[in-house]
Order: sequence, then structure tokens, then C-alpha cells
Amino acid sequence: RLGFADLRVAMTAARRRRRIIAVGSGKGGVGKSTLSANLAVALARLGRPTGLVDADIYGPSQPRLLATEDQRPESRGNKLVPVPSRFGVPMLSMGHLVRPGQPIAWRGPMAVSALGQLIDAEWGPIDTIVVDLPPGTGDVQLTMLQKYKPAGAVIVSTPQDLALIDAERAIGLFRQGEVPLIGMVENMAGYLCPHCGQESEPFGHGGAEEAAREIDLPFLGRIPLALAIRRDSDAGQPPAAGEGPIAEAYLKIARAVGD
Ligand code: ADP
Repeated sequence: RLGFADLRVAMTAARRRRRIIAVGSGKGGVGKSTLSANLAVALARLGRPTGLVDADIYGPSQPRLLATEDQRPESRGNKLVPVPSRFGVPMLSMGHLVRPGQPIAWRGPMAVSALGQLIDAEWGPIDTIVVDLPPGTGDVQLTMLQKYKPAGAVIVSTPQDLALIDAERAIGLFRQGEVPLIGMVENMAGYLCPHCGQESEPFGHGGAEEAAREIDLPFLGRIPLALAIRRDSDAGQPPAAGEGPIAEAYLKIARAVGD
């Protein structure tokens, strides 16, 4: 017969097996939140039970991306219960806890402990948690990485961002926090014409892949700059949940991350 002690051991083991995948970028606006949401949705589509934490506590955007703005997490014991989204991905964001537009003016330690509440929640049978980190490479990010030990990190970068070595700073953050780098995703890579469906490459081709190779970072894939991505994301309809080449591009990245 199983006693409480066995149960506790089993629960601890289950918690250990849960892997956190941190998504970071050197600066804001490169599409890190969009990629995080779609990566979580794509992993869930591939049959991997996945949750999503919006660690961007000063500018939470995940509730809008996965259409859960109206939901409020309940608490069980002293833990939060993630809110379900329509896309098979339970999630938690500071945006679920504060009123929209309400500014959050916390210092580092408070921000880190708030994040702890989001990560150390009642996730249920989830084996992967995608964490959308705040942009940049400050103390909150580093403390968070050291404290919650992600199993791996994904770097999001745009072609311009690469040229400006912002991405390299993010890489440095993960190395400093001793988080294994899973690889890099190039976002807003080529321009996908909404009229003719052709992709043009205003920033040239292969730059990110080459830059990743130079610094020994696996290249996980590229997402084009596409009007549909911005439009559907703003409408709370993640492209990874749909069909077609854009959904395929996210699924390909999810396969590379999941391996
Ligand atoms: P970050 O989290 O890096 O600040 P966001 O994910 O919030 O960036 O994206 C910034 C803006 O760019 C949003 O309006 C988003 O819809 C848009 N966006 C992100 N990726 C793409 C893309 N591949 N194509 C078109 N628009 C994109």
C-alpha cells in the first residue's frame, strides 16, 4: 500500500521531471512573446502537455495572445491554479492578477518572488513549461534563471538584432546562469506577402543561421514577417493553432525544441 511518504516522493519526482524552457531575447519587440505563445501551443499540438508562464511581469502580453484576459486564477492551498486557454495550454501571467493597464512598479526581489508564484503553481499533469522572460538581460532575469533552473533556453532574434549583437547579450545571460542553450529562432526573417504568398528577404538570406553556427548555437528555424501573425496574435488566435505554412514553421521549431 502506498502511504503519504510514497506520494510525496512521487510528487517530487513528477515536479523534477517537469522541464522549464526559457525564451529570451536581447531586447524587446523582436517577437519573443509571440514565439513563446506559439511554441507552447505547438508543443501541446505535438502531444506534449505544456504550460505557459508570462514572466514579463512589467508588460504581460500572454493573456491577450491566448485570449485569457477575462480569466482569473483560483488558488488552492497557497498556490495558484493556472487558467485554461482554448489552445490546450494552461497558463499564468501577471496580467491575470492585475487590472489591465495598471502599472507594476516593483523592485527586483518582489518581481522574482511574484514569478515564483507563477512558476511554482498547481500545474497538474504538465511536463513542459514555456517561460516568456522579460526582454533584456537584467538582474531579474539572471536571478530567475538561477532560482528556477530552466532545462534549456531558446533565443529569439531578428535579422537586425543579430547584426547589433543584442542576441549575443542574451546568450551571455543564459551562459552566466548556466542554462543550456537549446538554440536560436530567427523571427521576422523574410517578408511573406499577404497578396501573392511569396516570401522576399529584405535582410538577405541565411544571416541568422550563419551567425548561430559561428557561435556554436543550433539553429531551430525561422518565422517570416507576416501580417497574419500580427493580426491573428492581436486577436488571441495563435497562428500555431491553425493550418498552413506559418503553423508548420512553428511546429518545426517545436519539434526541434522537443527533441
Ligand atoms: P517581444 O515579446 O519581443 O517584445 P512581441 O512578441 O510582443 O515581441 O511582438 C512585437 C510585435 O510584433 C507584436 O505586435 C507582434 O504581433 C508582432 N510580431 C511578432 N512576430 C511577428 C512576425 N513573425 N510577423 C509579424 N509580426 C510579428
